Amino acid sequence: MVQEYFTLLDRIKGHLQKEGIEKAHRIELPRVDLVWVGNKTIIRNFKQVADILRREPQRLLVFLGRELAAATNMDSEGRAFLAGRKDPESIRRVIARFYRDYVVCPVCGSPDTRLVRERKITFLVCEACGAKTPVREIR
Ligand SMILES: [Zn+2]
Repeated sequence: MVQEYFTLLDRIKGHLQKEGIEKAHRIELPRVDLVWVGNKTIIRNFKQVADILRREPQRLLVFLGRELAAATNMDSEGRAFLAGRKDPESIRRVIARFYRDYVVCPVCGSPDTRLVRERKITFLVCEACGAKTPVREIR
């Protein structure tokens, strides 16, 4: 009985901790507005997605193209074009990865960050805690 109680307690604690982490890293990723035209995938709200993440659309576009192994383009209305029919789920996953690697501070979990380039190295600089973390280059 006592054993059960502790097991339950551990489970609750584990749950609370997990919840805390998830809250700190809460991802409120924008919905991707996607259509297929011929053999192309068009993300109609691409610029808005980049704006919400506070990143240059071009950077996100290069990342998407690399992760999905697709040629990419952007028009003056901020729509992104990808070669091939990409499913929304894989695009969502790539954006989530971008968010994790290039937006969220790994130290405190805040998304209030910016990318700064110094001597050929790009850093994620956190406006909340001040941490400065080197990130992989996007090519
Ligand atoms: Zn931070």
